[in-house]
Amino acid sequence: MNYLSTRGHPGRKRFCEILLEGLAPDGGLYLPEQYPQIDTATLATWRKLSYAELAFEILSLYIDDIPPADLKAICAKTYTAEVFGTDEIVPLRELEDGVYLEALSNGPTLAFKDMAMQLLGNLFEYELARRGAELNILGATSGDTGSAAEYAMRGKKGVRVFMTSPDGRMSPFQQAQMFSLQDANIHNIAITGVFDDCQDIVKAVSNDLAFKRKYRIGTVNSINWARLLAQVVYYFAGYFQATAANDKPVSFTVPSGNFGNVCAGHVARMMGLPIHTLVVATNENDVLDEFFRTGVYRVRGAVDTHETSSPSMDISKASNFERFVFDLVGRDPAKLRKLFVDDLGLNGSFDLSADPAFAQAAARFGFRSGRSTHADRLATIRDTDKRFATLVDPHTADGLKAAREQLSPGVPMVVLETALPIKFAATLVEALGEEPARPKKFEGIEALPKRVVKLPADAEAVKAYIAEHCD
Ligand SMILES: *Cc1c(COP(=O)(O)O)cnc(C)c1O
Repeated sequence: MNYLSTRGHPGRKRFCEILLEGLAPDGGLYLPEQYPQIDTATLATWRKLSYAELAFEILSLYIDDIPPADLKAICAKTYTAEVFGTDEIVPLRELEDGVYLEALSNGPTLAFKDMAMQLLGNLFEYELARRGAELNILGATSGDTGSAAEYAMRGKKGVRVFMTSPDGRMSPFQQAQMFSLQDANIHNIAITGVFDDCQDIVKAVSNDLAFKRKYRIGTVNSINWARLLAQVVYYFAGYFQATAANDKPVSFTVPSGNFGNVCAGHVARMMGLPIHTLVVATNENDVLDEFFRTGVYRVRGAVDTHETSSPSMDISKASNFERFVFDLVGRDPAKLRKLFVDDLGLNGSFDLSADPAFAQAAARFGFRSGRSTHADRLATIRDTDKRFATLVDPHTADGLKAAREQLSPGVPMVVLETALPIKFAATLVEALGEEPARPKKFEGIEALPKRVVKLPADAEAVKAYIAEHCD
């Protein structure tokens, strides 16, 4: 399998070459040259597999530069009941007639990002050992991504993590999750500033090419193809649990921010998984909902990006969206470049409303969308508690609301649960007047010793810290 850039760079790469990379050299995103096609007979054999076996079968179609026995061992080591809490790994439960929740949040940090990041940690360790190389991961987080990355990379050989976060701005639970890690290869850096300051520092350090090369700086952000690929697996696993046979369509609703999660659903559908509809659920930061309603994609500025009670969906632009639009415009890199380089660069928006391609977003690719507000989230959390004695986190609540607006008779609707309620306790308290229950292993974590350094919002200070901790 070869990978190409959405922006038309003539180079082709294999999986392990793009594993440790971010953007393609021309600024595009990597995609496979074609999507492997799954027929009904294959689906029938996959239905009987464990999650780790299913992951191996799907990953094998996209990875031909890791020996199969090694890849199988990596999948088996990653997707265990010990790490994810159940043998199913992503258990499905019916909430009401035809509406299901797929639990993706029972990994080490209680958000769905563990599903991909845990695999990435094992793939990185494997590939770095094979190359005899080291990698220093530099990131910026406001919560879920940073903790998922740290729990995936802790104790891994050849990898260090330098994770910046805005000092005092994460929830106490999220801070405790990250700062209580005592592993020598994990470095928490609290920046005096806001999340944007952290992101600017990461950009500034990455733009210093000499420093980047000398200290082998890498990232694990959501445009990483391996992360997206790992997420494809749970669409198949959810499909098998929601159906008894392979001729039945299923719909999925996905709480969305950077379009990584739902893009994996798009890939599963392109492979031939019988997905009826993919519902993109947004909060008040509704760039994606606006696109699917109107055909206009309008990136927001910092002032128009709202801080909401589903903070992991607070994005101004959706960094994986370019992958879907590439397929939407018939994989024409010139057309893609006009939209993402010329139009977005010049006007901060592009408009496909008059383009026949836009109609295909729904008709051919199955996309729909929905939007929620803070009041909707509170109402959904209360309603779900009252009618089904089930607590959902604010992001999953955004999903449930959008899902109910897009039901089709006879088609199961699977809502992806992207975090557990305890991660966003303040909103649960606001909705219900009480704290959600906390899994045993997280009892009292706020009282554990914290391992974190405070640095000013200054890229030079962060560089000096990295240099000092890299031998
Ligand atoms: C990251 C995250 C999302 C958004 O996922 P994308 O892949 O960026 O669309 C939604 N909910 C939670 C809880 C998250 O952590």
